Amino acid sequence: MNQVDKLLANINTFIQKAEESAEDITEILPDDIPELQDLPGLVEEFEKLTAKFLRQQRKFYLDAFKAFISKDDELTLETMLNYFQSNLFAADEFVALYGVEAAAFLTLTTKGLAKVIMESIDKDVPFQTLSKKTTDWITSWSDELAEIMQLNTHKAIEFELIEAIQNGESIQQAELRLKELPEFDRKRARATARTEILTASSQANWESFMQSPAVEGKKWKHSGSKKSVPRPTHVAMDGEVVGVDELFLVDGEFGMYPRDTTFSAKNRVNCGCVIGPVVNQDIIRLSPEEKEEIRQQVLVELNEE
Ligand SMILES: [Zn+2]
Repeated sequence: MNQVDKLLANINTFIQKAEESAEDITEILPDDIPELQDLPGLVEEFEKLTAKFLRQQRKFYLDAFKAFISKDDELTLETMLNYFQSNLFAADEFVALYGVEAAAFLTLTTKGLAKVIMESIDKDVPFQTLSKKTTDWITSWSDELAEIMQLNTHKAIEFELIEAIQNGESIQQAELRLKELPEFDRKRARATARTEILTASSQANWESFMQSPAVEGKKWKHSGSKKSVPRPTHVAMDGEVVGVDELFLVDGEFGMYPRDTTFSAKNRVNCGCVIGPVVNQDIIRLSPEEKEEIRQQVLVELNEE
């Protein structure tokens, strides 16, 4: 394996282990990749921030719950549910606050990864800046992520209150249900932080391949974890090459890279496949100035929209 393929395989291994294990994230980093040393720290910090925002959100709902009880002795859980649905959910600030933090994390991580990936592809064209296409994508995905998380929290709250009503539970029992909601806990923060490294890594691959003049395509490489039986459809993809900005066709489905969210679960779950850059040696041999000029042209195009 050449240097860049080895690096990409190591990033992939790190992400998979981070997603699967409960271990301290600094323990699972391959030690022979000093360039990735910042990654666990970033992920850990994002996990802490995510946990903080989930705790704040939990407090917002529990405080509102208590305040509502104190106003009305005749209160029923039905009126409480109605109050959540028609007032509190709309006043929840999670999306606005968390979207910004998620964008900051994705920006730092994507930049960090693009830096090491571009360095290993061609030292003459080091990473300088993310294209507008990527920064726009980070902004929109961060908002979407925050919205999905908030929607799931609201659904979980509704579910618990409806359950409490149907079981004829007391106000206190309903309050306990809210207090113990897993949507507010550290595990969710951890899972979110670790999953989002994959997002950053995929985008960093795309950005690095686009900005590296010598990269003409991306190649699918089958690789599976020892635990899972290899999918014949993914084994068949091994060696497939498409343009950097083009989609792979896997098992009847299209995606930009392995585990793309556009694939259905059967093609995403436990997939350990990676992509590598297809490098044109004639372009690698051009002068640094010529290559820089090509990169600048690409950036102009990516910054246009
Ligand atoms: Zn696969």
